[in-house]
Amino acid sequence: MFENLTDRLERSFKILKGEGKITEINVAETVKDIRKALIEADVNYKVAKSFTDDIKRKALGMNVLTAVKPGQLMVKLVHDELAALMGGKAEDIDLSGNPSVILIAGLQGSGKTTFSAKLANYLKSKKGKHPMLVAGDVYRPAAIEQLKVLGEQINVPVFTIPDSKDPVSIAKDAIKEAKKNGQDVVIIDTAGRLAIDEEMMKEVESIKKAVSPNEILFVVDSMTGQDAVNTAKEFNDRLDFNGVVLTKLDGDTRGGAALSIRAVVDKPIKFVSTGEKMETLDVFHPDRMADRILG
Ligand code: GDP
Repeated sequence: MFENLTDRLERSFKILKGEGKITEINVAETVKDIRKALIEADVNYKVAKSFTDDIKRKALGMNVLTAVKPGQLMVKLVHDELAALMGGKAEDIDLSGNPSVILIAGLQGSGKTTFSAKLANYLKSKKGKHPMLVAGDVYRPAAIEQLKVLGEQINVPVFTIPDSKDPVSIAKDAIKEAKKNGQDVVIIDTAGRLAIDEEMMKEVESIKKAVSPNEILFVVDSMTGQDAVNTAKEFNDRLDFNGVVLTKLDGDTRGGAALSIRAVVDKPIKFVSTGEKMETLDVFHPDRMADRILG
């Protein structure tokens, strides 16, 4: 993950880490190099530009030119700014209410169903919760079956209404059932499409309206780079979601989505998914991600 970006940034810092007097031109060159590295990592151009303009201003303001170790100072500055760009601090999910309701949205194939189960597993094993999974993708029997298999694997009940084509009443009935059985978190997996489509958006909006979820989490495949950011923007315009889940960070993703989403959509990344196994889910920590990016 992010190997190219890490290599490129390391090379960018070389000039400032070398011997001799540092000039304003050296700083400008380094900053230009950082911008190129970000754009190669598929970071949105506007985000990369304003990020590096800020870095330049701050570096000169911090007297990087007269610092004993300008390279180190610059690395620290870039680290802190990268963490800030990704949101600064980790953001929790809202688990108030009994049950708390979490709605999962995103395109087909983004990893929604896998994440729904992983989230249930995380809440059960790390937070002592008693979750219920809800199969709201009524169009794909395979998706319902997949959720059932995962639920069995982690020992979490999966609510379905066989043959129902009405995800709104499935969601409402699931919440009633959860209350009856003492399940304190209801995670609703919804149907996705291969591309954004009006029907899908309307459906998720009507589930939102019917169940007033504590959280809407938008799931997106990090491998899709700037498309991930554009999709996030469209979903957020319609759903006003609470947080983002970035999946497939175990692949050779370049990093653009992780770095741009917060700046473009102004919603926090809450979880990152790094595999198909149930344990491969992490709360997103911007500072730790910045550590990794800088190698
Ligand atoms: P959905 O259509 O949005 O519900 O997506 P799925 O949960 O069915 O996931 C689509 C495919 O991506 C499946 O083969 C998953 O096993 C896989 N997948 C999901 N999350 C991850 C991840 O973080 N890493 C990897 N490598 N594969 C993932």
